Amino acid sequence: MKPTSPASCCLTSIATEGPGAPRLRRRELLGLLAGLWAAGCAGTKYTHRIGLPQSHSLKAEQLQLYSDIKIEKEHPVIQDLQRLRLQMAETLDLPLGTKPVVVYLFSNELEYKQYLDTKFPGFPKRRAYFIETAGKDLSVYTWWGDQIGEDLRHEYTHGLLHASLTNVPLWLDEGLAEYFEVGGSIPGQINNEHAQLLASDVQRGAWRPDLARLEYLEEVQDMARADYREAWAWVHFMMHSSPDTRQVLLDYLQDLRTDPNPGPLRDRLSAVAPQLDQRMLGYVASLNGPGHWGVSFPSSGARPTAVRAVSHP
Ligand SMILES: [Zn+2]
Repeated sequence: MKPTSPASCCLTSIATEGPGAPRLRRRELLGLLAGLWAAGCAGTKYTHRIGLPQSHSLKAEQLQLYSDIKIEKEHPVIQDLQRLRLQMAETLDLPLGTKPVVVYLFSNELEYKQYLDTKFPGFPKRRAYFIETAGKDLSVYTWWGDQIGEDLRHEYTHGLLHASLTNVPLWLDEGLAEYFEVGGSIPGQINNEHAQLLASDVQRGAWRPDLARLEYLEEVQDMARADYREAWAWVHFMMHSSPDTRQVLLDYLQDLRTDPNPGPLRDRLSAVAPQLDQRMLGYVASLNGPGHWGVSFPSSGARPTAVRAVSHP
């Protein structure tokens, strides 16, 4: 089956709110400043258009993959994404979704860049993109590189969240994607780079948590790399600091299934965790120490039977 082209007609003003605007979550590149791809290829650096990968297709539950290189369902990367879907549903107490998340996997970076330059001119350079179009198609674009596993986990997390929820606040979308991109049999492993930088910033007095500010951010362009770190840390804090904070996050996600604007999460969190910022500072400062790996709390809520039956390999 030939892949459906994304609604490129809806992508002419990526920062515009409204029915014609796509929603995108983009993968941040280490050490990459905000240099636009367009700066390097404005006026079409490439002389020909390139299409979407379509030689091979693969379907695995919600994952619909199109690629020009043959990838078997049994490939570890595909198996990992299937496991991720189950982990997310179980960890976040969300029902398993059915809406497809279409992944366009280019064979190499050049073909990926050529396609994005043509279809989404002006998009900043990123290793991967998740794009939700006005028609609510959920698409991931990336290429087969050294960090494909991590990139796909991050973007597929976006896709699965958007498939299940009516809305995903930007900071929470990125925080959860950063949380689940760290591989492992148990979700919640420490992102060492984030943990070390945050702990260092706390020690130097260079950073203070500010969830209210994060919740205020609406445009992905407004999120700096430090904001991704903080979003990850808040998610990790909620999931692992106490059963009460974990429940606040799970309840919030339940609300987002039907209510696109359930209000500030910080207020709910402060109600169960007084002196919230101080607690968060202490949590972040201790992230490099022992005791946080794989910590989890049993859910008090009912889970879908199919999810409960899953055991992690
Ligand atoms: Zn992202």
